[in-house]
Amino acid sequence: MDNSILHPLDAGKMSDGELFRAMMDHVHEGIYFIDRKFNVTYWNDSAERITGIPASEILGKISTESILRPVDENGERLTSDRTALKMSMLDGKQREQEVYIRHRDGHRVPVLLRTVPIKKFTKILGVMEVFIDVSIRQEIKNEAEQYKELAFTDKLTGLYNRRYIEEFIKARMDEYLIRGVPFCVMFLDIDHFKQFNDNYGHELGDEVICMVGKACSLMIRSSDLFGRFGGEEFVAVLPGTNEQNMYVIADAMRSIVENTGISSEGEKLKVTISIGATMVRPDDTPETVMKRADELLYKSKEDGRNLVSTG
Ligand code: GH3
Ligand code: MG
Ligand code: MG
Repeated sequence: MDNSILHPLDAGKMSDGELFRAMMDHVHEGIYFIDRKFNVTYWNDSAERITGIPASEILGKISTESILRPVDENGERLTSDRTALKMSMLDGKQREQEVYIRHRDGHRVPVLLRTVPIKKFTKILGVMEVFIDVSIRQEIKNEAEQYKELAFTDKLTGLYNRRYIEEFIKARMDEYLIRGVPFCVMFLDIDHFKQFNDNYGHELGDEVICMVGKACSLMIRSSDLFGRFGGEEFVAVLPGTNEQNMYVIADAMRSIVENTGISSEGEKLKVTISIGATMVRPDDTPETVMKRADELLYKSKEDGRNLVSTG
């Protein structure tokens, strides 16, 4: 087909049909038309570009299903789509789906696919399918999600970072105030870690930080949060818990760290942690509940370390 842009003066010399076709050949969306007898009567340039299939192969084909044969993200044929075109022909309603189609050279293209009945008064003349390549939009979305993940992830441990922990506590506080769902906050800190670094070096120190993160994460449910607040300090937030359970989980974390350790040159190097844990109270703000947990952690340190203090 001729790709030159239509000159306004030429438009006057064209029939309505010719004008319509010329216009449709310049849009970015792939467009094709199936008449009432399920005959493909139109296939525009963008349809050719997005699918790799030339109009000459498609025009005149009879199909009661979408010519595009869309699939879902797993490459499975969509059962709902087998009837979408026929349904639109019958009920005159538009349908819209985000699907994948296969380009002739094999690669998959994510498209936004609209099935649009064309009517003259109440009579349905046929169905038009309009599809736009959304791969760029999807790439941007994936990138944004990746950045978001990076912004909330601690590089060393892969745990949530301080920023996320604070957001999470704020959200739990809202939930507590609006719906009355209680939660607890725990502050955890490795004991005498400066000395550990001095004795064994920073690298093994990093390994210990990762071990503590992994070991403690084993003790929580998927709806709980365990993150690295910074340095050798961690925070756990358990929504929907009570004081007794809070103590049990905190002490399980203390105990698993005490018993795990890391291996270095045949030697088992162990550390302990101290914990401060507190339930949220009606007059709390995110800051006050965190401050109380931190003060309780300090108490555990003062009382001798490798301890859990609650309050
Ligand atoms: P305490 O029992 O009172 O907590 O004693 P501490 O020595 O653990 O406490 P302090 O806060 O004085 O020292 C924390 C040390 O943690 C200081 C720093 O060298 C070490 N540290 C902080 N972040 C990292 C890290 O990312 N990697 C390593 N290897 N060490 C870290
Ligand atoms: Mg510390
Ligand atoms: Mg410490």
